[in-house]
Amino acid sequence: MKVILAENAGFCFGVKRAIKLAFESAKNSNPPIYSLGPLIHNPQQVEFLSQKGIYEISDLESLKPDDVLIIRSHGTTPSVIDFAKTKGIKVVDATCPFVVNAQKLAQKLNSEGYQVVIVGEGDHPEVIGIMGFANNSAWVIDNANAVSDLPHKKRIGVIAQTTQSFENFREVTSALLGRCDELRAFNTICHATAQRQESAKELAQKVDLMIVIGGRNSANTNRLATLCSQYVPTYHIETAEEIDESWFNGIETVGVTAGASTPEWIINDVIEKLRLINKHN
Ligand code: SF4
Repeated sequence: MKVILAENAGFCFGVKRAIKLAFESAKNSNPPIYSLGPLIHNPQQVEFLSQKGIYEISDLESLKPDDVLIIRSHGTTPSVIDFAKTKGIKVVDATCPFVVNAQKLAQKLNSEGYQVVIVGEGDHPEVIGIMGFANNSAWVIDNANAVSDLPHKKRIGVIAQTTQSFENFREVTSALLGRCDELRAFNTICHATAQRQESAKELAQKVDLMIVIGGRNSANTNRLATLCSQYVPTYHIETAEEIDESWFNGIETVGVTAGASTPEWIINDVIEKLRLINKHN
């Protein structure tokens, strides 16, 4: 049985950077250190982080001066950072540079008098953070149909949640042309998600079975599993322990991919288990 790992599987640049910063902070200051919301959508990695003294919290109330707060890759609002600093909390900002770019554009467009439009999901932490940089006055639009409800504006500046599809961004932007006199559009999409989906789709078309590794709470991993299952039988697992040898009866080629929040050690465990199964058969 041949096992092929997809190109572009596992941690994206922004998540890798956030984890690295969290470990460095834990090493340089006395743990515990805290992240506002889970640092990563992977239960095994969250557990591993907590063993290293890095904990998830849901608000800043319980933190004391000199506690260390890590801002995760999705970023947060300026008011959260200001509040933390006012309390004397040490802030380690692990906001992904691609998200920072979107935040800065939102701030600039808002200060120049543009109505900021964010193409994305209004309840996503990244979008909530970007909203904060646009003085909480941005409109969040998730699809082109919603544009017809908007009033006419003199100037609109549009940006995208980093994980949006380019097609949706293009459709919303072109619909906005009919809603203003002047439109500025900035493509702030990060290609990590699209690349993972493209590689998984390519691989799923060449193999007999796909294994998709990642948290069941990870939206991008769930999307990968759904995508692969359109081509071949697909199993979504969180860890190697979930693998059942009987899945591979009569299978010649297995493809493996993993979401942007799946750590390398879990991917390696899975590959190792598949090698062992191979040896037995
Ligand atoms: S998906 Fe892109 S924007 Fe989001 S954390 Fe990863 S690299 Fe950064």
